[in-house]
Amino acid sequence: MCRRFRYSEIRTPMFEDTDLFLRSVGKETDIVSKEMYTFEDRGGRSLTLRPEGTAPVVRAFLEDNLQGQDRERLTRLFYLAPVFRYDRPQAGRYRQHHQAGIEAIGSGAPGVDAEVIHLAMTFYHAVGIPQVRALLNSVGCPVCRPTYLAALKAAVGARVVEMCGDCARRYEENPLRLFDCKVESCRASMAEAPTQVDNLCEECAGHFAEVQTSLKVIGVEYELDPRIVRGLDYYTKTAFEFVTTGLGAQDAVGGGGRYDGLVEQCGGPATPGVGLGMGIERVLLVRQGLGLHEVEPEREGVYVIALGDEAWETAYRLVSGLRKMGVPADIDYRKRSMRAQMKQADAGGFRYAAILGEDEIKAGQITMRDMTSTEQTAVAMGEVAGWLAAQDEVAT
Ligand SMILES: [Zn+2]
Ligand SMILES: [Zn+2]
Repeated sequence: MCRRFRYSEIRTPMFEDTDLFLRSVGKETDIVSKEMYTFEDRGGRSLTLRPEGTAPVVRAFLEDNLQGQDRERLTRLFYLAPVFRYDRPQAGRYRQHHQAGIEAIGSGAPGVDAEVIHLAMTFYHAVGIPQVRALLNSVGCPVCRPTYLAALKAAVGARVVEMCGDCARRYEENPLRLFDCKVESCRASMAEAPTQVDNLCEECAGHFAEVQTSLKVIGVEYELDPRIVRGLDYYTKTAFEFVTTGLGAQDAVGGGGRYDGLVEQCGGPATPGVGLGMGIERVLLVRQGLGLHEVEPEREGVYVIALGDEAWETAYRLVSGLRKMGVPADIDYRKRSMRAQMKQADAGGFRYAAILGEDEIKAGQITMRDMTSTEQTAVAMGEVAGWLAAQDEVAT
């Protein structure tokens, strides 16, 4: 999927300097204040197990100068990596889980935002959950956000006392996240609050309109939702989330947005960027909830069954020879009964069982059994490779 959209894989280390996450994710976020696995190494440096995927990618992007000389070149990267959060484990959310993400760095064009959303929706379709909906919002920029936040605080002001403790804290530290609250009465209090989309500066408004036009051009459906504010400080302009029903209250299966200030915040030159992340375990959970199962892989390779000590050496040599030729092959080191080995050949997903017993050794032959059709063919010893190749030719 990522290759189809011309994204290349990047692998970053499991841990980074703690400072990277303090600077990028932000000290007031839940991630930094409560959820990071931080430790000191023998040199007294503070290190942190990667709690999210974007900051490490940006760090590597800068350190390895992936941008090159052309400052406006678009660099497209994807990753699939374990991330670590000290969080209460719940359905589809583990302290070590896997995150897949993409980052498109170097372009501020609204079409790139649309491309990232398109890639995600294409992915959800491909993995069998086309009911995923894209929720879209704009969180503004350093020009229009401060004015808006002041207006928001003024409008919410007197109602804070009626809201939950988390919201009282959010009001002081990160008022955008007031929209994030799951408490029903808090939601009601926020229903009439002014939204960022209605208070964008000219540039942000123009950008947001173009993102929507781009999505319409490529036929990606979306819904506007002022509550999509994302938990991280570095987002600017476009913010989006992918949701589906079936996981209960926690129904986001991915999200992301534009982060035009992040590269600079990480110590690089001002460089726009947009990206998304998704929790793999959550996607698998949704699939499970829908009753979708793993696609059974096609049968392949040969399970060599040796019966008796005399056959063992020949069988062992055959397995090794097949592996050298690139044919997946295995053998039962426990030398169990024919029945047990045949069962294993089936359960292991092998295409053929190669049976070597006393009779076969005497005749200089091997009995090749097709595990699907159960058809058996006697093949001369030394001809197995040629016979296997011939089967493939027949099949294609
Ligand atoms: Zn703005
Ligand atoms: Zn609340």
